[in-house]
Amino acid sequence: MQSIRFRFPVLLAAALVIVVVAAVVAFGPPALAAPIEAADLVPPGPHRDGVPTPASVLGFEVGERHVRHDQVVTYAKALAAASDRVVYSEQGRTHEGRVQPLLTISSPANLGRLDALLERHRAASEPPFDAEPADAPAIVWLGYSIHGDEASGANASLLVAYHLAASEGDEVAGLLSDVVVLIDPSLNPDGLDRFANWANMHHGEVSVGDRNHREHRQGWPGGRTNHYWFDLNRDWLPAQHPETRNRLATLRHWRPHLLADFHEMGTDSTYFFQPGVPSRQNPLTPAANLELTRQIASHHAAAFDRAGRLYYSEETFDDFYYGKGSTYPDVQGAIGILFEQASARGHLSDSDNGPLAFADAVQGHYLTSFSTLEAAQQKRRALLDYHADFFRHAAERAAGAEVAAYLFGDGNDPARAWHFLDLLAAHAIEVRALAQPVDAGGHRFRPGHAWVVPVEQRQSSLVEALFERRTEFADATFYDVSAWTAQLAFDLPFAELSSTAFSTRLLGDPATPPALPAGRRPAATADGAQPYAWLMSWNGYYAPRALHRLLAAGVAARVATGSLEAETTSGRRRFAAGTVVVPRGLQELGAERVAELLATVAEEDGVDVWAVESGLTLGGIDLGSPSLRPLVTPRVLLVVGDGVSPYEVGEVWHLLDRRWAMPVSLVDRDLLGRVDLWEYTHVVMVDGRWGSIDEEVVDGLRRWLRDGGVLVATQAAADWSLGVLAGESRDDDEGGAGQGGPPMRRGARGPAAEGDTSLRAERAAYGDYSQHFAERLVAGAIFEVELDLTHPMAYGFDDARLAIFRDGSRPMVPGGTPYENVAVFTERPLLAGYAASDNVEAIAGTAAVVASRVGEGTLVRMADDPAFRAYFFGSDRLLANALFFGHVVRRTEAFGE
Ligand SMILES: [Zn+2]
Repeated sequence: MQSIRFRFPVLLAAALVIVVVAAVVAFGPPALAAPIEAADLVPPGPHRDGVPTPASVLGFEVGERHVRHDQVVTYAKALAAASDRVVYSEQGRTHEGRVQPLLTISSPANLGRLDALLERHRAASEPPFDAEPADAPAIVWLGYSIHGDEASGANASLLVAYHLAASEGDEVAGLLSDVVVLIDPSLNPDGLDRFANWANMHHGEVSVGDRNHREHRQGWPGGRTNHYWFDLNRDWLPAQHPETRNRLATLRHWRPHLLADFHEMGTDSTYFFQPGVPSRQNPLTPAANLELTRQIASHHAAAFDRAGRLYYSEETFDDFYYGKGSTYPDVQGAIGILFEQASARGHLSDSDNGPLAFADAVQGHYLTSFSTLEAAQQKRRALLDYHADFFRHAAERAAGAEVAAYLFGDGNDPARAWHFLDLLAAHAIEVRALAQPVDAGGHRFRPGHAWVVPVEQRQSSLVEALFERRTEFADATFYDVSAWTAQLAFDLPFAELSSTAFSTRLLGDPATPPALPAGRRPAATADGAQPYAWLMSWNGYYAPRALHRLLAAGVAARVATGSLEAETTSGRRRFAAGTVVVPRGLQELGAERVAELLATVAEEDGVDVWAVESGLTLGGIDLGSPSLRPLVTPRVLLVVGDGVSPYEVGEVWHLLDRRWAMPVSLVDRDLLGRVDLWEYTHVVMVDGRWGSIDEEVVDGLRRWLRDGGVLVATQAAADWSLGVLAGESRDDDEGGAGQGGPPMRRGARGPAAEGDTSLRAERAAYGDYSQHFAERLVAGAIFEVELDLTHPMAYGFDDARLAIFRDGSRPMVPGGTPYENVAVFTERPLLAGYAASDNVEAIAGTAAVVASRVGEGTLVRMADDPAFRAYFFGSDRLLANALFFGHVVRRTEAFGE
């Protein structure tokens, strides 16, 4: 593909001469290269006349300013309308309603026989794994700018599409008969627009390379993330956002052979392409993947060598976590390739390598887009064979595997199980209903409440990747998390069935998840009158949505803080603490309206509702007991803005808004001093930098808390809240864990302590630092806590053992009395992922969730992120308890002191 080059080498050479001359004249430091300009980005002609160039549609040259997503869509449609090589389709819409376009580009002959091509292609990765025919094209997916502020990809995609659609050269014609190119030009439309508007609105007539210039310093939350501030390039496995769901549907349809994922990295860096660090490849990815990636890399290297551009590979980035766009394909029989271009973060940035223009960055991705296509064309047969071999080998491995099937139950929460089924379906994983009762792994699994995932299926590798609990690793460094075990994240009863314990008789019908299952509606009373009270169980995943709906409508509800047994209209039944009680006698709305609302929440929120005809129970508390505590509609203030981690705060916003349908006020950290906190029942603060908050604001929060507010503080906010708000002495020592906290296991800092006579200079090899640092890090692993099931913060949980995601080794200060420590890490807490053994020891036995009464209010501290990636359906329920029952927590005192 020699002819696909820009005319810049000549310009570059000329520019270098000028720069060198200028440097000599000025005696200044020589600049490294003149920036590429938008006008230089002209794909080599000739091009068909009738096919519009990007500039003719956009009104500006690619690279001259930042394209908005709607302009990308407009151009994509124009291209498809003018070229018989291009088909435009839509994959779906984003949270903000932007279209996710897809361009399918190939020869008219291939486009005319796509159905037949796809049929043969799909057969190759399913038994009996017939090889694809000699003329089968390779299917290559090019995805750009999943991080919206890494915009050179989306902009480059326009030129790539134009050249493929319009070139009259033989090379492109030949390429398109051998390859079907899928262009996903803008993987994160909401984020791309946020950034494009930012970069364009701060760019004037003269480009400003100064990196302090506002153009290069995005306002919070920046364009990297999607609408709810999630990193979509971590969502490929959790798949909790429409952008990902729609994309996975595209992949299920096409099953590409090669996926290229175009990103940007730091402005001072150069260009990276995979392979990444070889020792950090996920062990489930075949070695042949790395070898093919290396061969493909030689094409990128050749293109960059010709252009005289700097680049590197086999460092920095890895292929371990399957939730990234360049790694998910590796467990789908494809080759996933990550590209990282130094970012201009706007139109022009000064850098260690000279001025970096946006057009320059665009050119980098343009070049590797074509080197990727060139490699796919030349290695077409190898890619086709690799794809089929991947699935054939996976089938052989599955047939001989020790584990024949995985079993999971609904854990008394059909809604959570439904989300799990829904996730498996998004990944095309085959699931069957359980046909017979089974005892396994310490659980009883019953038909109707349990499912089987057979290991022998097309997605056997992905099944293993989702369910495995690895704690041994070849390398201690992880670019992202080291564990994502699905059944732990969802907190569902789970068991492995060995090939001897497994029988096909266990396999019922394929489980295709319908809508969220409806809950149980109460049976009518004997005389048809309205019941004395309704009881709503709290163990359904959508119980918070149901309760909020009831409270917001004006229903008077109470929570039972003790258990009870009652005669319901459907028989005798035991109700756990945490059951929501709606007594008829308290309702201003009228019993009929309340009955209707309860029927609605049972139907739509999947909660079980029961009716009783008497307040006198058969056991436990009666329904007029002081142990029934009134509930109030939470009015939640979520602190956002500069200094707050967008991911963690976005997860809370997403949880309350999307899952529980609760209004939540997002208030900037800097505005906290100007709002009336009394308008809110709850303030939620997550990870971030909290130390610099105004003392006046801290005073206001302290008064609000002591007079009855509920403050929910996670991660860094948890540490901060204790010292500042609860009035305990603040320990500002960087390594300290606050008063009374467990000792920190960090290296000694500062001068030798008094009495330390050893002044021997210890040594460690400087070159080993990165490795040692990584070994000390808990970079994202899953730990086990034990819940106090009698505590309001644990209502709705049946099982005291809960998996928590943790990405640090810092222990949290426990509560002042033992009754406050709602969740404590178990003695051997590491469930999955990497953590050094002394870090695991340091975490064992420390507090994970602490609820403390402070004056009339409650402070709930969580050491970790309970709603990690909208994927931890188990632990995110802790947040619901903090919001609905935080004010119910009583003051406790320590005994024996
Ligand atoms: Zn990126």
